[in-house]
Amino acid sequence: MSVVGIVPAGGSGERLGAQRPKAFVVLAGRAMIDWSVEVLERVCDRVVVAVPEGYDATDAVAGGASRSESVRNGVEAAPEASVYVVHDAARPLVTEELVHRCVSALADGVDAAIAAVPVTDTIKHTDGQGRVVSTLDRSALWAIQTPQVFRADALRRALDADAATLAGATDDASLVEAAGGRVDVVDARIENFKVTSPLDLRMAEAVLEQRC
Ligand code: C5P
Repeated sequence: MSVVGIVPAGGSGERLGAQRPKAFVVLAGRAMIDWSVEVLERVCDRVVVAVPEGYDATDAVAGGASRSESVRNGVEAAPEASVYVVHDAARPLVTEELVHRCVSALADGVDAAIAAVPVTDTIKHTDGQGRVVSTLDRSALWAIQTPQVFRADALRRALDADAATLAGATDDASLVEAAGGRVDVVDARIENFKVTSPLDLRMAEAVLEQRC
């Protein structure tokens, strides 16, 4: 079994308001992406990073126009994989233990195993103009994270889509679901949050400094 990590780091991360792409912002003394790559390298045979123009990594491919295009570029560069571990550079607090649990959850008949946490807020559906249409049943809802671990053939098939479909996907597991694949959630921790805002950056820094 060849396990290949794919790290999409090709976004600009404008919401962070930094002078450089989010994945390359310095976090607790090193580029944000380095935290994730170091963890994946302990579990995977190889880690491919999709980088924005003008940036580099040890095993790099060009980032795409959308997140899933970046993932596809990474997948195409690693055809030897039987399992892909896709993990966003924007989640630097991932742990080796969580990656292992996601890989182990890829049992017979499961196409993808994805990190997730049960939703704790009440979620309402609106009409797009601020009027509430309904309240969803929270007990069945999960907030999805990465890592997302895939059987290689299932991910390759799912990514074989046009640019608009890939751009509309907020994660890769949804493309596998759309193709009829089975996706299971793996109970993760809220600490594995995505760095989007300057506040997230400060919180991630605090957690990492406490860990060191
Ligand atoms: O923008 P967002 O935080 O949702 O991006 C999630 C991850 O996808 C980030 O690590 C970002 O660098 C990556 N990405 C990418 N290529 C794009 C857009 C986002 O690799 N075109």
